[in-house]
Amino acid sequence: MRFVYPQGRKKALTFSYDDGQKYDRRLVEIFDRYGVKGTFHLNSGSLAKDENSIYVTAAEVKDLYRGHEVAVHGVQHRNLPTLSRQQQVTEVLEDRKALESLTGDLVFGMSYAFGSYSPQIMETLRTLGIHYSRTVNSTGGFFPPADFLAWHPTCHHGDARLTELGEGFLHVADYIELPLMYVWGHSYEFGQSDSWQVIEDFAARMSGRQEIWYATNGEICGYITAVRSLEYSADGYTVWNPTAVSVWARTDDGSLLEIRPGERKKLGEH
Ligand SMILES: [Zn+2]
Repeated sequence: MRFVYPQGRKKALTFSYDDGQKYDRRLVEIFDRYGVKGTFHLNSGSLAKDENSIYVTAAEVKDLYRGHEVAVHGVQHRNLPTLSRQQQVTEVLEDRKALESLTGDLVFGMSYAFGSYSPQIMETLRTLGIHYSRTVNSTGGFFPPADFLAWHPTCHHGDARLTELGEGFLHVADYIELPLMYVWGHSYEFGQSDSWQVIEDFAARMSGRQEIWYATNGEICGYITAVRSLEYSADGYTVWNPTAVSVWARTDDGSLLEIRPGERKKLGEH
């Protein structure tokens, strides 16, 4: 048995964009047009009061990012390793509170400002209810992260290998379970150099494929965490799903298996 994404989809594609500048408006429009999904990491302390700012306004956060995910990037975009523990907590928790208030939703996600983090910071985030945080260390690969609090992306959108990696992902090797392509950046990089064609072309190439789950960072983290939370009998023939998420697998004979929340399933006999 091998795990697959919801409804049997083979792979997942996600995007992650930081800082909440006004160019997010056009990026969301492109994502929506191609049916792909992303997570937008915002600094609540930078959100604008009126539309003359380079930042999106606090008032538009809920509607602008609808269908995507809003996540933490620190109230003031401070460099966490340089702060006291108390300042780290304020930077993360106050951002989480502000974004939850603006979206009316729960916020569990984050990306590290400047890509800076440490084992101590990861531990602090666990305490603050943050489930994942993205680094800026490109892997060029498609494996899900070992630890979601050091979630290394596949590549930045400006990576010279973007097209090649996209093609590699469309033909990803079968030995990778739950393959994932994760692209990150800042929308102002498209806006300031008018290079929107980069993301238009990539989204167009990757869109509309039955085998791909187009999901936010948080949806993917939640799903893979559920897969990893399954409990097995000592003989391995019974599985129990203690989570609130349906988990999907493909059996050796090719049939699709759904293990529903709370369900206990026989996988075979001795
Ligand atoms: Zn940033």
